[in-house]
Amino acid sequence: MTAGTYQNTRLYINGEWCDAEGGATIDVLNPATGEKIGTVARASIGDLDRALAAAKAGFATWRRMTALERASLMRKAAAIVRERADSIARLMTQEQGKPLVEARIEVNSAADIIEWFADEGRRVYGRIVPPRNVNAQQTVVKEPVGPVAAFTPWNFPVNQVVRKLSAALTTGCSFIVKAPEETPASPAELIRAFADAGVPNGVLGLVFGDPPEISKYLISHPVIRKVTFTGSTAVGKQLAALAGQHMKRATMELGGHAPVIVAEDADVELAVKAAGAAKFRNAGQVCISPTRFLVHNSVRDDFAKALVKHAEGLSVGDGLAEGTTLGPLANARRITAMTSVIENARKSGATVATGGERIGSAGNFFAPTVLTDVPLEADVFNNEPFGPVAAIRGFDSLEDAIKEANRLPYGLAGYAFTRSFKNVHLLTNQLEVGMLWINQPATPWPEMPFGGVKDSGYGSEGGPEALEPYLVTKSVTVMAV
Ligand code: NAD
Repeated sequence: MTAGTYQNTRLYINGEWCDAEGGATIDVLNPATGEKIGTVARASIGDLDRALAAAKAGFATWRRMTALERASLMRKAAAIVRERADSIARLMTQEQGKPLVEARIEVNSAADIIEWFADEGRRVYGRIVPPRNVNAQQTVVKEPVGPVAAFTPWNFPVNQVVRKLSAALTTGCSFIVKAPEETPASPAELIRAFADAGVPNGVLGLVFGDPPEISKYLISHPVIRKVTFTGSTAVGKQLAALAGQHMKRATMELGGHAPVIVAEDADVELAVKAAGAAKFRNAGQVCISPTRFLVHNSVRDDFAKALVKHAEGLSVGDGLAEGTTLGPLANARRITAMTSVIENARKSGATVATGGERIGSAGNFFAPTVLTDVPLEADVFNNEPFGPVAAIRGFDSLEDAIKEANRLPYGLAGYAFTRSFKNVHLLTNQLEVGMLWINQPATPWPEMPFGGVKDSGYGSEGGPEALEPYLVTKSVTVMAV
C-alpha cells in the first residue's frame, strides 16, 4: 500500500484551528514522489500577534493550575497520541519520507516522552534554607519562566516538538511552536492531541510561515521569555545571538558529526549491527547519526566489508510500502547536498565502496553509501553530512582516534565499541560530546539528558536538566513580626 490520505494543515491559535489572515499557504510535497500532497497555512504578523496575545493569557491560566492538574491533562494527551499513532505515522511518512515503522516508533515514543515529563513536573521542588536569624524563614521557589517560542525542524516532525512542548507544559509555561513547513501535518496532530485532552485555550499555539520572519518577530517580542531551537549550527548561532540581544533564555540543539570509534578489541559484528542500523535510520537525517567511523586498522577491512553488506541489504523505497527500510531524503536540498558530498569525497581520494548515487529521477531517493579510505580533508569528514553516508578511516592508537573525534567544533553524540574497561575509561573521560553510547546504538530515553557541547549547542532536552531552563528561581525571606 503506497497511497494514503493527507490533510491540509491550519494554524492553531487561542484554541481554534484557523487559516492564515489573507489565506496564504505553502505547498507540501511527498518526498517519495515529488508531488504536491497538500498545503500549510502561512502565518502573517497579524496571526503572530494573535498567537502572542493568546500565549500571554494562556500563561496566566496555566501557571495557576497545579502540577498535578497539568500532569493529568498531559497524560490524557499521551493516551490520545497512542490511540492515533497509526494515522499520525501515516501522515508523517507521506510528508517526511521515513519508513512507516520508524514513523510509528517516533509517535509512540512521543507518548512516552509526554508521560515522563508529566510526572517529572510534579517533582519541581524548591528548598528551605536555614536562616541566620531564628525569626526569619528563607525559601527558594521555582516558577515557570513564561511564554516560550519554539522552532523545530523536519527530520523528526513530532519528536522535535514533543520534548520542548512537554518541558514547557509540565513547568507551567505556555508555548508557541513554529513547526516545520515541509512536514506540518504530523506535528499538528500532536498539538491536536493536547487540545482534545482539554489543555486550556492559549496555552498552546502552532504557526507556520517564513522561518526567519517568524523567529525574528517572536524572539524579540516582549511576551516571549524563552527560546528553544533545533536545527543547524549556523541558524542556531543567529537565533542565540538574537535571544541574547533581548535577554531571553535559550536552548540550542544543533548539528553534530558523531564519531564511532571501533577499537581493536571491539565486537565487530555488534558494531556493524548497532552502528549500521543507526546510520541509515531516517536516511541519516538525524543530528545524532553516526557519521565519522574511526576503525582500528586491524579490524578496518572486516568492518567496512560488513557495513557494505548491511547497506546493500537495505530496501530503498516509498516509506508506506511494505518492507521498505530506507525511505527517500526529506527534500530535494538533501539530494543536492549528498551529490556534492560524494563528489568531493571522490575527488579527495576516497573509495566509494557502495552507493554514491541518486536512485531514479522521481522522488528524493539516494543509495545507502559507504566511503572508505576517506582523507581527513574530505568535506564529509568535516561538515555534518545529514544523509545516508558512512565515512570510514583507520587508526592505530585509541589516543589518535580520540584526538580526531575531538578535532571538530561539533560535540553532540559519540559512539564506541570496545571490550576493555581501560578503553571505556579513556573514552568516557576524553570524548568531547554531550552523549556517549558504548557497545550499543543510541537510546535517547526521556529520563537521560539530551544535548550537546561546543558548536552543537547548549541546554538539555532530557532528564531533570530539561526542566531547569523553563524555570526561574525566586528567593524569598520572611521575618516573623
Ligand atoms: P536550514 O539550516 O535552513 O534549516 C534547518 C531548520 O531550521 C529548518 O527546520 C528551518 O525551517 C529552520 N530555520 C532556518 N532558518 C531559520 C530561522 N532564521 N529561524 C527559525 N528557523 C529557521 O537548512 P535545511 O536545508 O532545512 O537543513 C539543512 C541542515 O540543517 C542539515 O544539514 C542539518 O545540519 C541541519 N538540521 C539539523 C537538524 C537537527 O536535528 N539538529 C534537523 C534538521 C536540519
